[in-house]
Amino acid sequence: MATVKCIGILTSGGDAPGMNAAIRAVTRAAIYNGLAVKGIYRGYKGLVTGEIKEFKSQDVSNIIQLGGTILKTARCKEFTTPEGRQVAYDNMKAEGIDALVIIGGDGSLTGARIFAQEFDVPCIGLPGTIDNDLYGTDTTIGYDTALNTILDAVDKIRDTATSHERLFFVEVMGRDAGFLALNGAIASGAEAAIIPEFSTEFDQLEEFIKSGYRKSKNSSIVLVAESELTGGAMHYAERVKNEYPQYDVRVTILGHLQRGGSPSAHDRILASRLGSAAIDAIMEDQRNVMIGIENDEIVYVPFSKAIKKEKPINRELVNVLRKLSI
Ligand code: ADP
Repeated sequence: MATVKCIGILTSGGDAPGMNAAIRAVTRAAIYNGLAVKGIYRGYKGLVTGEIKEFKSQDVSNIIQLGGTILKTARCKEFTTPEGRQVAYDNMKAEGIDALVIIGGDGSLTGARIFAQEFDVPCIGLPGTIDNDLYGTDTTIGYDTALNTILDAVDKIRDTATSHERLFFVEVMGRDAGFLALNGAIASGAEAAIIPEFSTEFDQLEEFIKSGYRKSKNSSIVLVAESELTGGAMHYAERVKNEYPQYDVRVTILGHLQRGGSPSAHDRILASRLGSAAIDAIMEDQRNVMIGIENDEIVYVPFSKAIKKEKPINRELVNVLRKLSI
């Protein structure tokens, strides 16, 4: 039997559509299992400052369709220090919280791992990031919605790119992962994706130009993952201006609009399943794992793996994009 009686839930780091669906699922599944729930505001900051409120079932009514996070999110410097984490632990105990569910990305789960080790607190992580860069889950909460937002934008850019016969570099998010760029390119019918995973393998711009797209097309869209490793869309536009001045080149940086919007059906279902499984994990006395879904099965992934192991790009997708963009 689990000894946990009250859980705390927080969203941390970069926000992602579907975080609210996850908050709802965790809260309702916890109450269903007889646990009390406390919402912690502004990520780890709320643990440090004691911004904590009891959540009943109605507190998460009507939020499954909302983007963003009703718990707010923040980055918290204090939590990266042992002193800050001690204050967080003292507040947590004072509130009667026995276990934490953390919804966030790489950084947030790194914080959870350290906190769990230091204070022997059961921590369960849910992968919440549009970047899809956590190992051990096929997709992360928010990724599918962000992909759909990218499609909407690229469909519109294509109208103007075609009319003016231009080459467009569209910069998408992803941190150091190319999932949004690669799958966004396939789904939007873009001609190429420039992704960090290949930044040291070959010159991705040269490969794209040499593919001879001009033979069959007079406009073109290339999705570029924002990353120091790729240099971003502006970098490639500058290169084209200098190295291939015959092309009329433009840049669109999609930026934070990729973080917003009502979550897709995929993200709502994913968040609901993961949130419910987080409480199953707590009831089974699991601790210090991220919940993922692989091949449609719930899996428990130790924090060390989820954070440290690099999620590989599927090379088959790269080939599909190459073949279909001729
Ligand atoms: P994300 O979860 O989206 O990757 P961040 O990397 O900004 O976002 O991390 C969110 C928060 O997690 C940070 O502001 C900090 O409070 C906490 N965190 C990140 N890394 C660590 C760490 N090494 N030690 C303790 N806390 C951390």
